Amino acid sequence: MGSAASILECAQIIEDQSKNKRCIVTVSAVSGVTNQLLSMVELAKKQKPRLVVKKIHQLEQLHRNITRAFFSNEKEVSAVWEKDMLPIFEKLKAILHGTSLVGDLTHKMQAKVCSFGECLSSYLLLYALEKKGIKASRIHSEKVIRTDSAYLEANVNFTTTTLACKKYIAPLLQKNIVPIVTGFIGKDTHGDTTLLGRGGSDYTASILAVALKADEVQIWTDVNGVMSADPRFVKESISWPEMGVKMMSEMAYSGAKVVHPRSIAIAVMKNIPVYILNTFDRKFAGTKIKVDEVKDVKGIVTSDQNILLHIENPNMLDEVGFIAKVTSIVEQFGIPIDVCSTSETSFTFSVSEQDFNPKLLKSLSKVGLVRKIKNIAKVCMIGHEITQNSKIFEDVFRMCHQKKVPIQSISVGASQRNITLMIDQKCKDQVLVDLHHTWIEKRT
Ligand code: ASP
Ligand code: MG
Repeated sequence: MGSAASILECAQIIEDQSKNKRCIVTVSAVSGVTNQLLSMVELAKKQKPRLVVKKIHQLEQLHRNITRAFFSNEKEVSAVWEKDMLPIFEKLKAILHGTSLVGDLTHKMQAKVCSFGECLSSYLLLYALEKKGIKASRIHSEKVIRTDSAYLEANVNFTTTTLACKKYIAPLLQKNIVPIVTGFIGKDTHGDTTLLGRGGSDYTASILAVALKADEVQIWTDVNGVMSADPRFVKESISWPEMGVKMMSEMAYSGAKVVHPRSIAIAVMKNIPVYILNTFDRKFAGTKIKVDEVKDVKGIVTSDQNILLHIENPNMLDEVGFIAKVTSIVEQFGIPIDVCSTSETSFTFSVSEQDFNPKLLKSLSKVGLVRKIKNIAKVCMIGHEITQNSKIFEDVFRMCHQKKVPIQSISVGASQRNITLMIDQKCKDQVLVDLHHTWIEKRT
């Protein structure tokens, strides 16, 4: 939903898909808009009303310009603008103006503000569909997605949601009208707006699919489904035609740019396949995410800019609670630990450079000798039960030996789906390309 052109492309996809199936469409906000709304919230909290007004104005311009693409003259644009869009912007202005005055904003109000992105974009898609002569109707998801009151990351009540979907969405399908549902948004039992967490519009699609027993979910992204490696680093990376949901989750947790597993797991677990498709490459058949897993290496995911911290204390031999002491210090700093490995008297863990706080070193030095290594790359080999395949370990160690790549730390995931190497950032590209060549290209 980046521009008028891409919204028209979405309309085209909907037209093609609805020729032989009944579709329900879930929309996200126009690209970048949720982040902009969040930045307005921050500015309002800092009591910067002028900057807020400026940003709201930019947001109005953005949506108004896109709206123009769907109508033949400015009179028509003004008419729909006043009817549909203006009321949303007035609410946005009122909330943020109030916030700027008091300098405080509750999660409840933040959810309301962030929900406006999808409220606006759903109108844009509706206009595009109407321009093409497709019968469509916009449904605000507050009507159908029922949640608890965890405003920013609410939990769905599937019983009441299913009833509401049957009441409000199913009749439209029967009349061959395409329902356009705002993604990301729900409503709690008090009638307040809630959100399903960042990236939540994919989750909305899965919820609707489960509630209405859909045959499939299609997620239209800007990449060719789930790939074996980041195509920017490995030219030969492959798009998988199929993938098990646990494998896809492992890739996402290791940092691959794929849809959030939480968004689709509920559908896949109900045996509703989820297809990850590319809006910009319509010929690509998509990756089908399903329940069954296939044994083999499916991906190599890497990340840069990690810091490794080694804590060593020989006095800790046979002592209880060494690791607990280390982790509780890290917890006090609110830093998430990524990969870790241990020995009797030492503990090694990685954190991202972004999360690191230099004061952590001083606190950790109270429990042992601390060594910090910067510029570390994480290389994760991912595949169902790969940790049971000793050939992989043989290859990894031989390759690192031949290429003179010291392994700073290695960890084997309890899920049996992940072998992670921590190496010098300089060596990452070579290791990635080599492992990809041996374990993916040669075997497909
Ligand atoms: N607009 C929301 C977000 O940016 C939801 C989504 O795009 O899926 O997080
Ligand atoms: Mg999205």
